[in-house]
Amino acid sequence: MRQNDTTARIAHVFSGTFVHSTPRAAVEILENCVLGVDDEGKIAFIEKEKDLVSLSKIWLFETSDIKQLGQNEFLMPGMVDTHIHASQYSYTGTALDLPLLEWLNTYTFPVEAKYKDLEFANNVYTKVVRRTLKNGTTTACYFATIHTDASLLLGELADKFGQRALVGKVCMDCNSAVPQYKESPSECKVETDRFIKELLKKQYPHVKPVVTPRFALSCSASLLSELGEIANNNKLHIQSHISENKEEVELVKTLFPGCKSYTDVYLKHNLLTDKTVMAHGCHLTDEELEIFHETGSAISHCPNSNISICSGMLNVRNVLKHKVKLGLGTDVAGGYSPSVLDAMRRTLDTSKTLTIQDPQHQTLTFEEVFRLATLGGSEALSLDEQIGNFVVGKDFDALRVNVCVPDGPIDLFPGEGPKVILEKFLNLGDDRNITEVYVAGRQVVPFLDT
Ligand SMILES: [Zn+2]
Repeated sequence: MRQNDTTARIAHVFSGTFVHSTPRAAVEILENCVLGVDDEGKIAFIEKEKDLVSLSKIWLFETSDIKQLGQNEFLMPGMVDTHIHASQYSYTGTALDLPLLEWLNTYTFPVEAKYKDLEFANNVYTKVVRRTLKNGTTTACYFATIHTDASLLLGELADKFGQRALVGKVCMDCNSAVPQYKESPSECKVETDRFIKELLKKQYPHVKPVVTPRFALSCSASLLSELGEIANNNKLHIQSHISENKEEVELVKTLFPGCKSYTDVYLKHNLLTDKTVMAHGCHLTDEELEIFHETGSAISHCPNSNISICSGMLNVRNVLKHKVKLGLGTDVAGGYSPSVLDAMRRTLDTSKTLTIQDPQHQTLTFEEVFRLATLGGSEALSLDEQIGNFVVGKDFDALRVNVCVPDGPIDLFPGEGPKVILEKFLNLGDDRNITEVYVAGRQVVPFLDT
């Protein structure tokens, strides 16, 4: 047992069942345990309940202050959405009838162009931050739009509501279909610099900028180089899209004839680092996955979007075999659900579809998918030293789950243990079951104003 050798005070103590992943176990269930969170939002201890009295003496808390979880409750790590377009949230659940490139030109670019209006931005960004937090997304890796002030506003709102976020001002200097929605290369550089500088100046504890070239088709080679340099000089995260659909892959080959592959385009422009997350990757070759492994870059798997706009099916098992970091993404609004629970279900569906096509394919288990949504996501965003599971010293990002809320979506039956309860929540649960959400020890759901 660790001694209280610091001056940290205990802010919360929970007692009951804790479910999380470790590098060894996709699901580890800790029953009859107590977990303490210090006043800096870090996990101070996780011990057996039988040690409660001695723990209370070491950590100086009253046993009457303990939050006791009920029999049908557990705590799990907050979920990580490694790819979501906050700016597309307004039309989530619609516009799913076109393939990627037509979808962008028809629905996405005209809507994203509206974000020069800060009132419009404020309305949508408030709603997306609240909706995702309520659904248990404690960390979101956001695409905004090309507009610096609206992107800064997204950062401000994530901080206000207490969500951990990487926020990207989108960079794109090529758009022949909707020419009013792009920047000149020089504007793009100046505005990206301003965005990074101003967001960092705010010193939000859990909101950081991420360098965001939209994708190879929207960016000139010189812009890609500039962005690689900006990211590397400032040691920032990078996010973009790769190999989402076959038409796009072919076009990239035509536009970048000097590059061996789509992956090579980003590699040549210094955009593949151990802080890079690329969405989709449905059509990457094994050689390209090898480059991801070597550079430490990650893939965000967005199965709802991949199916909804008929892009492809990522073979997650093959990605994991190549030891490439992988997290889950909702990809709102190509994906129609803002919930990472949905991303988990669609991940299993895609894996099972691959098994239908090839019985040799080793289907993912629900336990593995749980890990991808939590610890896997934190690894994909290179935040695994801070978040992802319940380890002493990490930030306490957590969900309190009650599978038996009144009028909830789940029925339990006698004899069902914690693993069955977890599986039912992952397959049947929704935001009604997520009764409390914590980010870095701060309770952020229920919202203070509701
Ligand atoms: Zn996307």
